[in-house]
Amino acid sequence: MTYLAVPISAQNPVLAREQAARAVAGGAEMLELRTDYLEGLTPEMAGRLLGEVRDVTGVPIIVTCRDRREGGAADYPESLRLEVLTTAVEAGAEFVDAEFVNFRQEHVRRTIEAALAPKPGCRLIVSAHDFDRPFADVRRLRRDIVEACPQAIPKLVYTAGHINDCFAAFDLLHEVEGNCIVLCMGPAGVASRLLAPKLGGLVTFASLDEASGTAPGQVTLDQFRRLYRYDTVNAETELFGVIADPVGHSLSPAIHNACFADLRMNRFYLPLLVQGGRDELFTFLDNVWERPWLDFRGFSVTIPHKHSALEYVHARGGFVEPLADKIGAANTLVVERRATSDGQRLAAYNTDYAGALDAIEEGMGITRCGLRDMPVAVVGAGGVARALVAGLTDAGANVTIYNRTIERAEKLAADFGCASAGLDALPALHAKLIINCTSIGMSPKVDARPVPSEVLKPDMAVFDTVYNPAETLLLKQAKAAGAKTIDGVAMFVNQAMAQFKLFTGQTADSDLMRNVVLDSLR
Ligand code: NAP
Repeated sequence: MTYLAVPISAQNPVLAREQAARAVAGGAEMLELRTDYLEGLTPEMAGRLLGEVRDVTGVPIIVTCRDRREGGAADYPESLRLEVLTTAVEAGAEFVDAEFVNFRQEHVRRTIEAALAPKPGCRLIVSAHDFDRPFADVRRLRRDIVEACPQAIPKLVYTAGHINDCFAAFDLLHEVEGNCIVLCMGPAGVASRLLAPKLGGLVTFASLDEASGTAPGQVTLDQFRRLYRYDTVNAETELFGVIADPVGHSLSPAIHNACFADLRMNRFYLPLLVQGGRDELFTFLDNVWERPWLDFRGFSVTIPHKHSALEYVHARGGFVEPLADKIGAANTLVVERRATSDGQRLAAYNTDYAGALDAIEEGMGITRCGLRDMPVAVVGAGGVARALVAGLTDAGANVTIYNRTIERAEKLAADFGCASAGLDALPALHAKLIINCTSIGMSPKVDARPVPSEVLKPDMAVFDTVYNPAETLLLKQAKAAGAKTIDGVAMFVNQAMAQFKLFTGQTADSDLMRNVVLDSLR
């Protein structure tokens, strides 16, 4: 079992009791009383607070009085910190946490062991922290702790400079029998916090709210519970994730997790911050590939990795959807279990173009055949435009690409055999469908529009790929002109629906997805 613990980092006992009650009401299964945050700390204050918090909450409690050198909040002397721990043992704490660097000192070890001897209900956590970087050898460090104190629960916490630094933590949790806590701090370490229940870490820590975290990269209790399906993740859970940099704004965890929950699937989708370029992505995917026990089954891929993801699947000899190849970008990777020498195969798809075409068909009330010979104006020549142009030309549409940087428009047009022009040619455009593939009109610059309103006509459809806001100025003006409108949320939902189908073989509830997207945007 993995406990979802919330550190209580209040400066006085009144606030600490209030935070503890709030944490347990929010779903915390364990509390860590960070007594080093208390002002004017005395052993009696810590013992009293422990009793009061237990009376109010009834959950197991770790008492910690962290040394400043290991991330503590105050410069309390070693003698006081030690007395706080022994008082907590005496007062019935379920766990006390001592830093390995201190525990190794003979007098500290003897004092703690003497306090614990008559209290078998209290377990000792021996912890080590590196706030700057990964430990040189995390396995060895765990062994050293176990050798120094066989009955202790080792807790190893280090800062991940990159998500690839998390794999040492995953390996250790995978290998170790018996209780252990291994977590990575920092934005690159979030996966280690979310995957603790999958890998059997004894505790993972959540912050009570955005403001009260005690370590960088902590996820809030509410996010753990509602967004990250904490209650349902276990050793058998299959994993999915979005590979991106930045990843914090991604709506994909919210929509895929909501659909997994809706269909009662033992699957979990997490944000995967993969910083750097091709090399870092390849290392990340190699790391996943070498660890089939992690049960990663699929990935959404977005900026800046869509091209490199495709390259990776080619390099692994996997399947690449032909149109994804032509677009030069994969936004979906599926890890298929196969009777190959590796027991698995990677497949790459692009659901951006399929999602966009589905949105167009729905919005215009046509089938894909209806796109044949249709004059379409695509504004923009970036990644999204490329996916759209590939899909549209594949369906036989007659596409003209308009872009600020004319050379980009010309290059894209040449790749897919269509026409191109600069933005100054927009007033003279002739099209049945106009598609905005630029970021113009996106929040916060919602008063901008990519196309002059004079060109918008009632016999047209206007599709804005921008999804924040859902109704852009372009779409408002198109609606006022009597044109049919298609919003970026429809494309986003359709590409996610297609991904979900590739991930699971099942169809998600598109209304649920759309509502989750709209809720998240609000
Ligand atoms: P990208 O590769 O960076 O391309 C951006 C495009 O916008 C380029 O053509 C660029 O022109 C043009 N552009 C940007 N600012 C401009 C300005 N001020 N004036 C004129 N043109 C401008 O980006 P992308 O990946 O294609 O994404 C484009 C948009 O698609 C995003 O902003 C997002 O809103 C939307 N999107 C929607 C979905 C969905 O599912 N609905 C998914 C992904 C993205 P230059 O070539 O001249 O720089």
